[in-house]
Amino acid sequence: MPVAPGMPVWPGDPEVRARLCSSIAAGDGCDVTALVLSTHTGTHIDAPAHFVAGAAAIDAMPMELMTGRALVVQVEDEICIRPEHLPSCLKRGDRVLFRTPNSMRRLAGFDEDFVYVSAAAATALAEAAVALVGIDYLSVGGFHTECVETHLALLAAGIWLVEGLHLAEVPPGVCEFICLPLRIAGADGAPARALVGV
Ligand SMILES: [Zn+2]
Repeated sequence: MPVAPGMPVWPGDPEVRARLCSSIAAGDGCDVTALVLSTHTGTHIDAPAHFVAGAAAIDAMPMELMTGRALVVQVEDEICIRPEHLPSCLKRGDRVLFRTPNSMRRLAGFDEDFVYVSAAAATALAEAAVALVGIDYLSVGGFHTECVETHLALLAAGIWLVEGLHLAEVPPGVCEFICLPLRIAGADGAPARALVGV
């Protein structure tokens, strides 16, 4: 997701702000931008520490986790991802990216009714011991329900999360995935740049 003022953010999180603190137009030697944003802005990674006190923070992320083959799973459900939507082939260490109707509906503001991972599906993903779960909106858990339960089921199992993906142009199936966060010391998450090769 492009990071820009006015972009949708989780309600209560700080709005993205960008201000030139040095400006060529104003006679300074260069442009320098001061940014205000949360660690969960746009495309970002949730570290286990996001919901589990004392768990791994973003700067402890194993780099190999975010580079390699991933499985893009298409889910058409308009509400949530349930256990029956999960492929039976999932195994330990897999990277799973969910492509849902979220990728097709890009609203200007925050969409409270985004498709999320149900707590039951999160538990099944944890039991399968996948390494990484990605979703195409700002949270794996729902806005109205199952936000804490889903996050906890995944993060307490040591599964790292990528949120805010945009998968409209990415076909279902296996892809090469690269997603590297900013190395913010001790942080619960960080914005990231995600690339997919098919
Ligand atoms: Zn997050």
